[in-house]
This record gives sequence, C-alpha cells and structure tokens, in this order.
Amino acid sequence: MIDKLKSVTKSGLLSAAGSFMAKRGCILCMHRVLPIGKKSPFPLPRDLEVSTAYLEKLIKHFQALGYCFITMDDMADFLNSSSKDRVMALTFDDGYRDNLDFALPICESAGVPMTVYITTGLIDRSVDPWWYSLQSLILERDYIFTDDLGEREGLKAITQKEKEEAYLWIYKKIRKAGKEGGEVAERVWKANGLSGVPSCGDLMMTWNEVRSLNDSPLVTVGAHTVSHPRLIWCDNREIESEIIDSKARLEEKLDCKVRHLAYPHGSEKDIPEGISNLATEAGYETAVTTIPRNLRNGDERLYWTLPRKNVSGDNENLFDLECSVSGLNVLLNRRLRQRIKAVAGFQ
Ligand SMILES: [Zn+2]
Repeated sequence: MIDKLKSVTKSGLLSAAGSFMAKRGCILCMHRVLPIGKKSPFPLPRDLEVSTAYLEKLIKHFQALGYCFITMDDMADFLNSSSKDRVMALTFDDGYRDNLDFALPICESAGVPMTVYITTGLIDRSVDPWWYSLQSLILERDYIFTDDLGEREGLKAITQKEKEEAYLWIYKKIRKAGKEGGEVAERVWKANGLSGVPSCGDLMMTWNEVRSLNDSPLVTVGAHTVSHPRLIWCDNREIESEIIDSKARLEEKLDCKVRHLAYPHGSEKDIPEGISNLATEAGYETAVTTIPRNLRNGDERLYWTLPRKNVSGDNENLFDLECSVSGLNVLLNRRLRQRIKAVAGFQ
C-alpha cells in the first residue's frame, strides 16, 4: 500500500486528480495575517489569524501546482470564459491593519493580487470588534464581571486556562444573544468599569491606511457591510442600507468604484433569499459567501453568491488545504489522507 501511495504522490497523481476535481479553482477567505509569535493566545480569535510563514508557503505551493492568482476584478470574466486555467483568489475580510503590514508585502513579493473586504463601521470606529475587545479585557484582568449573565456574577481569569474558559463563556453568551449581541458586550464592558469599549490598539486600519492599501496595484477593495450583521436577521431595508451605505462610504473615502461585496458570516444559512437581487441593484459585480466549495462550471450564473473556502489559522496545514481545494477530501477518507500526507512528506 505504502509503495502504491509513494508512486501516486511521486507521479503527481494527487495534483493531477486535484486538477480534475478542482475544475476551475477557488476563492480563499482569510482575515488576519500575523507573525507566528503575535497570534492570539485564545483558540477562537486565533482561527482568524493566518501566520505570515503559512501565507508565504501557501502561495508558493499553489503557484507550483499551476494555479493562476487573480483578483476579484477578473473573476466574473474568468467564470464567463472557457479558460481551462485553475485560478485562486486571495481575499481578506473586515479590514485588519495587519492586511497592510503583513499580507500586502507577502503578496507584493510573490506578485499575486489580493482582495480586501472592508466593514466600514470598523474603520469609522462606530462598530466594536467585540471578539477582540473581549480578548483585550480578559488579558488585562484577573477577574471578569459578567453583569449576572447566566446567573454568574463573574469569572476568575488568572491562569491561561481560566482566561480561555472566561473568553469562551462570554463569547458564547454574546453570540447566543443574536441581534442583541452588541448590547450584551456593552453590559460586560460596563460591569467591568469601562465607559467605552476595551482598547484593541491598532487592530483595524484607519482610513489613511485603507487608502494606502488601495494604492497598491495588486489590491482590490470591496465592501463587507457597515456593521457586520448576520444579514438573515435583517429586513430588506436594513440589508439595503448595509450594502449600499458601505459601498458609498468606501467610494467617498477611496475615490474609486467599489465593485465587490462579501456577506458577513456568509454561510448558507446566513444568506437571505433574494440577496442576489439586492446586491445587483446596489451595483455590485460580484459577491462572495463562505459556502465552502470550489469554483465550477455554472458559477457564472452565481456572481452574487460565489463560494469561498476558509483558511484556518488554527490548523495551518497545506496538505489538508490542498485536499480541500482540490476536492480530494470528498473522495478520500481521513485515514487514507493521513497515509498520503505522511508518505508525501507534507508539513
Ligand atoms: Zn467579516
């Protein structure tokens, strides 16, 4: 069996099978890019943080496999063409400052384009990135008051384990509160004596930084709504205002046309019916979801609900990513994937 696997990987069959399964390539979804030592101490935010080393490896790996890196500006034309190329688009959501500090230099040195979807309220500082505000609070304190959420007055947060548990406990309460999540977060900040939001330092870009990112010929800026809501909880008027106002704000601040949109959250269950019509009417040429599949023939009819594969910062594993991007994970069970991985010497 091992010999067979060796010959499979040596002959490049993994990649050949991948090129058949992957059909037209994929759009990758990332958030933050950080040097490994700067990543979050807590698992949930860490999953949003791809290391600089991994991003470099990922680009080299898929370039070597023959993927052609394209911007979202070229995606619609590509999908509508009969090109046999396999493409990859790198996208980054929300507007984190490290996109400018770390992702851009990596993309520039590899000569690959990137698309950054901006939540305008995060740049305007009118929206609280509570998932990082909560981390700042817990890292600073030994005890977190919870304003009696779930009948607990507070949580001890001295050791790493206690801090992780406190983060997870409050994170779940905020998530569970649905549309009122922001109010729950505010209650927690107040209960801990803060008059505003815990400081996250330079987590998000400023408008000057978004402009400087947008100045790079490799960067395409798209919109990611104003307040990053789950659109499924919004009525049509709210959705329209989220997607129209964010586009207008970006166009005003960057003095250029904004043609692309990413839905916040964006899984199948988060996408309201009729969203394609709203995105078209708002003037977007493409919109991406986080429905995790590869691009395929027929996607030229789905410009406003394109799929994207998430790149996990908590499982930086090129082999797993290649299996997912190639579509081989559908064919190979976990055990067989592990054998191939060991034989092929992936790290
Ligand atoms: Zn987002």
